[in-house]
Amino acid sequence: MYRFLFSNEEEVFWVTTFEQTKIRFWGGLRTIGGTIVTVEYKDSRVVFDFGLKYDPATNFFDGKLKLRTTSIVQDYLRLGMIPKIDGLYSDKDLAGNEEVIPAELDKRQTAVIISHIHLDHIGAMGTIAPEIPVYLTSDSLKLYRSLDTIGEGVPGNREYQLCDYEQSFRIGEITVTPIQVDHDVLGACAFHIETPEGSIFYTGDLRLHGNYPERTEQMIQKAKERGFDVLIMEGTTLRSVEEHREPLVSTNKLPENLLTEAQLPRKVEEVLEETNGIGCFNIYNRNIDRIEGILTAGKNTKRTVVFEPETAYLASLFIPDSEFAIYLSSETIAEVKNGSILEWKKSLLERYEILDAKKINEHPSHYFVQNSYENTMEMFDLNVANGVYIHSNGVPLGDFDPSYQNLQNFLERIGIEHVLVGTSGHAIPNHLQYILDEFDPDFFIPLHSFHPERLIPRRGRQVLPEYGVTYLLINNELTKMIEKDNGVVIGG
Ligand SMILES: [Zn+2]
Ligand SMILES: [Zn+2]
Repeated sequence: MYRFLFSNEEEVFWVTTFEQTKIRFWGGLRTIGGTIVTVEYKDSRVVFDFGLKYDPATNFFDGKLKLRTTSIVQDYLRLGMIPKIDGLYSDKDLAGNEEVIPAELDKRQTAVIISHIHLDHIGAMGTIAPEIPVYLTSDSLKLYRSLDTIGEGVPGNREYQLCDYEQSFRIGEITVTPIQVDHDVLGACAFHIETPEGSIFYTGDLRLHGNYPERTEQMIQKAKERGFDVLIMEGTTLRSVEEHREPLVSTNKLPENLLTEAQLPRKVEEVLEETNGIGCFNIYNRNIDRIEGILTAGKNTKRTVVFEPETAYLASLFIPDSEFAIYLSSETIAEVKNGSILEWKKSLLERYEILDAKKINEHPSHYFVQNSYENTMEMFDLNVANGVYIHSNGVPLGDFDPSYQNLQNFLERIGIEHVLVGTSGHAIPNHLQYILDEFDPDFFIPLHSFHPERLIPRRGRQVLPEYGVTYLLINNELTKMIEKDNGVVIGG
């Protein structure tokens, strides 16, 4: 119906002004997370996701620098941590920053949709103006609210809106449908985004080796049933070609050396069975499946699982019938004494068995005790002789994080063995190829990756977008918008 190269600029201008879907990329193209994309049709606009890129080595906020809660939006903008998108931040928060139009003055109907609640997807969602709805799946929202209760929410103070798997909702002329997917956090979804000029499918983060591979497989089928023109997909595990000399093979088979979420408890048990002393573990507590895996490993090795209060709170809500004890640190004892203990913690301590280091030290081999990185010093109080520290995807995640060496130095100093038993939330490269081939998109945009170019569709066109460029979806075709001085020309 439309041709994409016009000589009559008047006609082009009409086309590009009124009948097109505009896609722009603001973050996450060649980083792990921080994915921010806008999809716009006339006066309707959807933004997904709204996190901060994950790179502990270069992060401004290194744990020492203090965030000023009174000027988060301004400071994040100045640091380049959030993009200069018009109509998203409130006038008050912009405080006179003239480069960005405040939400109050923007006539478009905008909504932000969040695929899952990892920080690289939600880290900045608290900066969005209160009148712009920010949608999370009901699972995500339930988990987010509990994280917020235990002090693990994101900076900023606003309300969040609820959406549900397969329940479509409209943002003006754009229809959004969340589709459940498997990732290592509760509530993860992909989004089908339908505009009058074509549809986009955004996968969020995903994997095939979690506890629910069928969710990922079904997501692909559901996407195909709904139909889409452009697929936007993550490629976290794609490292450089040099690192992976073998070309990608399209398969959903699980290789022998890949630990699945389901096999993980058994692996943890094997380590614990060989240990005469205490077992400690470090996990990322928003992976509820992992909390469950730790409980299983504890039960099967007849060790009492001892959670820090924060994780205990999540376990009490999301795995209600589970049995565990709560670690009573000297800090918590002080909170109880001086009355500063928070209500959620207080009621938890009343409901569960509580154990301090002294009690644990009577029989270290009877326990499997959580120790998160920030609580590393607690291990001074524990008898770690012949013990093991099982590192299971808790921060620091690897040697790309300067804290990792710090942790290793500490563990070496106190003489506890450091064992890694973890598995990633992201599909391995061959699974990514399989997922892509199953989708078989006409237009394919890989992102959330250091080497997105390695993921090549067998039939459709791979598009590696650039920042600052607007892509147009017109009549189900994706093309690049090129602006000329005297009008607009659509390029190929
Ligand atoms: Zn991510
Ligand atoms: Zn994620």
